Amino acid sequence: MKIQPLEVPLGPERDSAWETALAQLDEAAELMGLAPGVHEILRTPKRALIVSVPFRMDDGSTRVYEGTRVHHNVTRGPAKGGLRFHPMVGLDETKALAMWMTWKCAVVDIPFGGAKGGVAVDPKNHSRAELERMTRRYASEILPFIGPERDIPAPDMNTDEEIMAWIMDTYSQNQGYSVPGVVTGKPVSIGGSKGRGGATSRGVMYMLFATLKRRGLGIEEVSVAIQGHGKVGGFLAQLLHDAGCRVVAISDVEGGVYKERGLDPEAINRHKREAGSIVGYPGADPITNEELLEVDCDCLIPAAIESVITVKNADRIRARVVCEAANGPVTFEADRILQERGIFVVPDILVNAGGVTVSYFEWVQDIQAYFWTEDEVNDRLRLIMEKAFDEVYELALAKDLTMRQAAHWIGVGRVAEAHLTRGLFP
Ligand code: GLU
Repeated sequence: MKIQPLEVPLGPERDSAWETALAQLDEAAELMGLAPGVHEILRTPKRALIVSVPFRMDDGSTRVYEGTRVHHNVTRGPAKGGLRFHPMVGLDETKALAMWMTWKCAVVDIPFGGAKGGVAVDPKNHSRAELERMTRRYASEILPFIGPERDIPAPDMNTDEEIMAWIMDTYSQNQGYSVPGVVTGKPVSIGGSKGRGGATSRGVMYMLFATLKRRGLGIEEVSVAIQGHGKVGGFLAQLLHDAGCRVVAISDVEGGVYKERGLDPEAINRHKREAGSIVGYPGADPITNEELLEVDCDCLIPAAIESVITVKNADRIRARVVCEAANGPVTFEADRILQERGIFVVPDILVNAGGVTVSYFEWVQDIQAYFWTEDEVNDRLRLIMEKAFDEVYELALAKDLTMRQAAHWIGVGRVAEAHLTRGLFP
């Protein structure tokens, strides 16, 4: 497996998610000898919609936010990807996240293209009723863009199953009948899938364990640090702890805690429920989010936001394995530094594909109107993800690539093959 020599000096850091996504695609295209025409097609999102989202505040005043929905590629199937509520989310970030969705769906070989949406809102500043009006208006604005055969939104940062229910209802009201397959990650009572809530975390665990197995490390001998305590990081800490890993550090947006002998995720959850944050959890050392990335541990799992490992801190990462549960947590240049230092990086488009894989199961169940047990969901998830891991690992070995290069090779390759097979319209 490749340890990248730094024979080409590092240029200035491209630290935006879009620049990272493009650099990764360009590198894969060069390595695999991708036809220039297809490469050019894949560098550009298929379509992007910018919408104004006006809604009424509880006090009767009007507020307006900008929303986006990007379809990066729909060659292998309907566009698929989450919806993010974050004050900093803009078109470029959404384009990057949509492109990663295209490769992610192709790496695990599910029949979807890639999409992402966002509203530049800080949900903390709004009541639930305001968020509902805003979500329903956003859904109305993107209505012609979405549908079970077109584009299927799902939860992402700061969006949850209730928000998916509002989108499903808004769409269904417009159609005049119930359309569960228009979103995934919705409540089970309206056609959600069992196991969807924990699917991304479960997938990350499968990918970490597959990595440990290949690296000859036992589950119970490794220490893990997790940045992020949202939908992915919180449940992941519990899963890994229950499986016997020593979880030494956990953080949320406010900050984190470190304990060499291992933390108790359940006690941390209890503290967070009472105090509103992990910060202040007794019996462990307080650390910042930056310090968490640099703690002494075997496996580092960034499970929060993009571009947290950059050229500024890549030299100080002490983990032997970095498992990217977040989308795009390592910049292109930082990735090269980690590789050169012999740190084994397992890329986002493989590691966090569990969420969209169970979204696929949800969509299939909705279309068939026939629902699976939680064990069926988890077993099928494991099969798909372990197969994808083996394919990426074997290609990395065979072609002397990094895991990221191999994952992109497979993902980009499948999308390119679909383009070439369908031909160029007209
Ligand atoms: N937001 C998740 C992701 O980034 C899930 C997307 C989906 O299920 O469509 O992979």
